[in-house]
Amino acid sequence: MKISILTIFPEYFDSPLGVSILKRASEKAAVEFEIINIRDFASDKHQTTDDRPFGGGPGMVMKVEPIDGALQFLLKKAKSQNRKILLTSAKGVMFTQQKAIEYSQCDELVIVCGHYEGVDERVAAHLIDEEVRIGDYVLTGGEAAAVVIADAIARLIPGVLGNELSNVNESHSRPGQLGFPQYTRPSEYRGWKVPEILLTGHEANIAKWRKDSREDGDENKRTQ
Ligand code: SAM
Repeated sequence: MKISILTIFPEYFDSPLGVSILKRASEKAAVEFEIINIRDFASDKHQTTDDRPFGGGPGMVMKVEPIDGALQFLLKKAKSQNRKILLTSAKGVMFTQQKAIEYSQCDELVIVCGHYEGVDERVAAHLIDEEVRIGDYVLTGGEAAAVVIADAIARLIPGVLGNELSNVNESHSRPGQLGFPQYTRPSEYRGWKVPEILLTGHEANIAKWRKDSREDGDENKRTQ
């Protein structure tokens, strides 16, 4: 799978994509990350990517032309039609594990990062497939959202995690499902004991305990 991220701050991604599982995913070629600098597609000598909003108001709005140019560049070299173009947006649909599973079926995923007061609405209307939000709050830019989305999707790609079972038993892998409690050595620390059953080695009983101890995934019933 290829994940392309369009941003005016390409350096933002150096660290998140350069460590741990996402780094290994690139090294193993399970996921290819491409960071596109939207500024490279601005047509003026100052490489302007934002302008004042029509109708007045505070802040700046990201211009449609450089984003269109960057997307056309990507589409020209695309190897597959099985592709989704997402725009990060506080007013988009909620990004959930089910969305991550859906997007992980694509061969190519493009994530456009907004900034400032947002993005000229013609991008959402004509150039992308879906606007997505990662929560009900407002970020300064779409870069943090793009990292969250790319991370959640990349770990679903076969070969990225050491053990594919990790994805099956996890929180949200089915709607309402939460992961079971995990423990590791030592079996007792400051008097806090690991549940006895996990030390018995009895697979069937452990499986039943894990099943029973999954919390209810209903958000309203979850401990805050
Ligand atoms: N004026 C916009 C509004 O009221 O919805 C907010 C713009 S926000 C300051 C700048 C950019 O951050 C957005 O264009 C989007 O790319 C990103 N962003 C902000 N909150 C987000 C969220 N909850 N999920 C995904 N992206 C978000």
